[in-house]
Amino acid sequence: MEELLKKYYRPKLPHMWCPGCGNGIVTAAIVKAIDKLGLDQDKTTIVSGIGCSSRAPGYLHFDTLHTAHGRALPFATGIKLAKPDHKVIVISGDGDATAIGGNHFIHAARRNIDITLIVYNNNIYGMTGGQYSPLTPHMAKATTAPYGNVDRAFDLAQLAKGAGATFVARSTTYHAKQLSELVAKAILHEGFSVVEAMTGCPISFGRQNKMAKPAALLAWQRDNTITVEAAAKLNPEQVAGKILIGLLHEEAAPEYVTEYAKVIKQAMGGER
Ligand code: SF4
Ligand code: MG
Repeated sequence: MEELLKKYYRPKLPHMWCPGCGNGIVTAAIVKAIDKLGLDQDKTTIVSGIGCSSRAPGYLHFDTLHTAHGRALPFATGIKLAKPDHKVIVISGDGDATAIGGNHFIHAARRNIDITLIVYNNNIYGMTGGQYSPLTPHMAKATTAPYGNVDRAFDLAQLAKGAGATFVARSTTYHAKQLSELVAKAILHEGFSVVEAMTGCPISFGRQNKMAKPAALLAWQRDNTITVEAAAKLNPEQVAGKILIGLLHEEAAPEYVTEYAKVIKQAMGGER
């Protein structure tokens, strides 16, 4: 751990995350995945938008970019097109990725650009005080929905797959080891890869959220999820109500930067 801290974290701690926040667990899972893969830190770029999770790149020792709210993916797209040999990882929150950045999310998936998006899904806008997001469960309470959220939530994994992402996975802060392994697989995948990291926002800067306390959130993740492998051995009734975790979708498809390079070559008079 000491070694990882020295190698991958900027000496800028303390961070701004609340006690009990899951963001540190997700960030550590990403760092461990990068370390396991032995990625070149000078050729790994981490991009984020705005929100609590989007602070993570500022704590990490890579080339990083902290951009505008919801706009991490367009910045990352530009970086990947300019530096195709770089691994580009985007860190986003549920509001950042699916509300303000929702359009960018579906179009990055449609293009199948070789970027890995990790969504820290705490089902809420943590930084601004616990407002509901497109991933807040139906009828869950939030500061802007004191009687329950009447909007239905997106299923992030289904949204990613439906929009064209070629790698989709989900895990939780309780399953930190599995989460890290999935992030590593996502980074290796050629194309747009999405990992939903279910996490918790128990505090919201001094205000106790309507969600739950940190230990209860972890227990909830343990009790309400099932791995893809375990689910395959059960019948549908036994799996009903459980959230699937693991690798949910993987396919091979033409990658955007590679395809774009062919068009450029053709435009310059070469063969496609
Ligand atoms: Fe974490 Fe929520 Fe605090 Fe943000 S507001 S640092 S998500 S606990
Ligand atoms: Mg959030």
